[in-house]
Amino acid sequence: MPELPEVETTMRALAARLRGRRVLRLERRTARLREPLAVDLEQMVNGRRMVDFSRRAKYILIHFDVPEILLLHLGMSGRLLFDGPPQGRHEHLTFHCEGGTVLRFVDPRRFGMALLIAGSDPANHPRLAGLGVEPLSPEFDGEVLERLLRGRSCSIKAALLDQRLVAGIGNIYACEALFRAGISPRRRAGNLGTRRCRRLARAIREVLEEAIAAGGSSLRDYVGADGRIGNFQSDFRVYGREGEACPGCGDGVRRIVQGGRSTFFCGRCQR
Ligand SMILES: [Zn+2]
Repeated sequence: MPELPEVETTMRALAARLRGRRVLRLERRTARLREPLAVDLEQMVNGRRMVDFSRRAKYILIHFDVPEILLLHLGMSGRLLFDGPPQGRHEHLTFHCEGGTVLRFVDPRRFGMALLIAGSDPANHPRLAGLGVEPLSPEFDGEVLERLLRGRSCSIKAALLDQRLVAGIGNIYACEALFRAGISPRRRAGNLGTRRCRRLARAIREVLEEAIAAGGSSLRDYVGADGRIGNFQSDFRVYGREGEACPGCGDGVRRIVQGGRSTFFCGRCQR
């Protein structure tokens, strides 16, 4: 599933390629993804110039030269591909853009989204309003994290996956950040204390920034918008490495299930 680094990488690739260009023609091959597509989607998008691109949590925002924004979410298996051959029945939207670029929204499992929202106040749209702090924003630090976790009795791993607290962190980067911070995924979120919160906030920022620099990870079928495959997955220290030697101490990396999701960690390095 694409997480924040993959979405950020995709958004940057879109901006580099398409900022300032018009959508000449949008083609759709489905009436709905996770939700029905707007009936007037083509009418709203065709001929419009894409003036800017941004990201909020795992949403990509395409800002047009009218006060409308197209909100894209890649869901579980969504990809945005430039040019190349048509992708068959899993290609749900095709944007034919000025300059000859073709952008394909491909999503076999159809958990993705393409919603038109009013551009006047996107932060208050129901999809975006409840999202937590951006972990790469200047305001995210140990103090903010400690405040968000205060009083929470769930595990710190579960808290990191809660998009209402910190937005955009999924299973992979939660495991990796906890390993780097030396914090047990089973520790109660509300009991981390100031020093651990500082370490964890720093680890979250580091692991996300490194993954973005590496072009996003490419687990399963994720490929960036420019068709390049990210290579951060080779840098995972614990995620997906059950039984392999911990890079910190050499003990075997362990896997447990928390909230129905696998957690990978080192029982010796993470306390
Ligand atoms: Zn270890």
